[in-house]
Amino acid sequence: MSARLLDGKAVAAEVTEALRVKVAGMARKPGLAVVLVGDDPASAVYVRNKTRTAERIGLAHWQITLPADTTEADLLAEVRRLAGDPDVDGILVQFPVPRHIDRLRVVDTLPPDKDVDGLHVVNAGRLMQKREGFVPCTPAGCMELLRRTGIELRGAEAVVVGRSDLVGRPIARLLEHADCTVTVTHSRTRDLAGHIARADIVVAAVGVPNMVRGSWIKPGAVVLDVGINRLADGTLTGDVEFAPAAERAAWITPVPGGVGPMTIAMLMSNTVRSAERRG
Ligand code: NDP
Repeated sequence: MSARLLDGKAVAAEVTEALRVKVAGMARKPGLAVVLVGDDPASAVYVRNKTRTAERIGLAHWQITLPADTTEADLLAEVRRLAGDPDVDGILVQFPVPRHIDRLRVVDTLPPDKDVDGLHVVNAGRLMQKREGFVPCTPAGCMELLRRTGIELRGAEAVVVGRSDLVGRPIARLLEHADCTVTVTHSRTRDLAGHIARADIVVAAVGVPNMVRGSWIKPGAVVLDVGINRLADGTLTGDVEFAPAAERAAWITPVPGGVGPMTIAMLMSNTVRSAERRG
């Protein structure tokens, strides 16, 4: 392997330690509420990691676990209750929610000033217009990792694989704000390998194990692998074929230990920022 690791775990530890110090000096503890509907094991792990980190940095935190058969009306009522609670600065509803619940209706019910995962249309619009707002945590974490590693973005060719509201679209905007020339690819893209072969920066957010082949990576590129895929043997792997990609890339994120911890660190950062704004 010739690439250097973009060590999200280490950078996230720096970010959360700085937040711990800041929170210790705040008159009111910032509060984070995480809502989980149902018993999806992967979601339960994500929620546990979030509440553990919140605990470590001294946030007030609440985990609201609702049964899988919770009605949409009851979930929306819970979100409205949290919206009205002055101790709550950030609300995160862990997705996916069960099929009978309309995800967008949940997002629309979040108050934009407590929408610490940056999904509400107001925050998406603010990002579009490069205005102050909450940026989705995974894309924000990718950018923070690039920034702290000192990777030059201005003028770079960036290729994003995936166009979800949660990852692909917002990371494309952030890279463009950082003066990259951005190409967004998706399941209908004709020549994915050809696009990736020209990329100085590759962000893979697909959810298909190893679909980005190592041989497609341009020598010297920076590779951010957002994918988290659990294989039949229980191991986690990303969307990028790691070993051959690491032979060609200059920098690459491991899975796990790359983008995942940065996502949690940015959730904490957004919650603290929300508390600072709300006073
Ligand atoms: P979505 O399923 O919402 O989006 C996947 C995207 O990948 C879609 O835009 C889809 O295209 C595209 N896609 C699917 N197949 C292909 C293909 N063969 N070639 C090119 N593009 C393709 O997923 P998310 O964005 O929510 O998540 C992506 C991955 O990131 C998942 O593994 C998820 O677990 C992980 N994740 C990790 C986080 C972290 O903290 N590290 C946080 C959030 C997500 P189309 O639009 O055409 O359907």
